[in-house]
Amino acid sequence: MEPAKRRILIIEDEKELAALIARHLEDSGFAVQSVFRGDAGLRAAETGTFDLILLDLMLPGMDGLEVCRHLRTRHVQTPIVMLTARNTEVDKVLGLELGADDYMAKPFGIAELTARIKALLRRIDGLAAVSATDTQPIQLAHNVRIDPRARQVIVRGKSVSLTPKEFDLLLFFTRNPGRVYSRSQLLDAVWGYSHDGYEHAVNCHINRLRAKIEVDQARPELLLTVWGVGYKLADPTTHER
Ligand code: CA
Repeated sequence: MEPAKRRILIIEDEKELAALIARHLEDSGFAVQSVFRGDAGLRAAETGTFDLILLDLMLPGMDGLEVCRHLRTRHVQTPIVMLTARNTEVDKVLGLELGADDYMAKPFGIAELTARIKALLRRIDGLAAVSATDTQPIQLAHNVRIDPRARQVIVRGKSVSLTPKEFDLLLFFTRNPGRVYSRSQLLDAVWGYSHDGYEHAVNCHINRLRAKIEVDQARPELLLTVWGVGYKLADPTTHER
């Protein structure tokens, strides 16, 4: 029996571009569904039956940032790659803050997009495989508990919803508490690639993780900034002040 095909949802109102992407992804072995409006895309994405979503920014019905925000608010954690013609820092940061996992600025090469999609899926598969063998729950300070097998985080008794990237980033830090990682090291380890300007992705994910796990987001005690270097997870055995 052939393995089930990975399913990709394309939400893109430029029909020729959507068709071109769909054809290439199908040639690469993916099953693809295309939707040409934001509101219809949100409904399709909410079924939760996709492995990855390609999401255009400017869309009729509902724009891509809204679609992304709605999905994350409703705890749909399917990886999202945002597509946009507006290659500005503001849009990048906004998209990533709202929970997108990656970003492609138009015009992009279809081969590069396909490679990026495969890398993202591989990374998620790999981290899921590692965490499946690493089944012991991890206890952090301030009553934060990570269950690698369930990919679940319990913060002071409440289950919090993390995107795949947020979870992977947190899990990565737990492997070496106290060790400082630069943004480009984190990009390399958790995203699987790095390119100029993408360090924003790390900052955004750290900020969103802090909002979810820290007692006081403005005074983090778990995910610490090491000025001029990067970030580290406070060693749970030494309570830093
Ligand atoms: Ca568009």
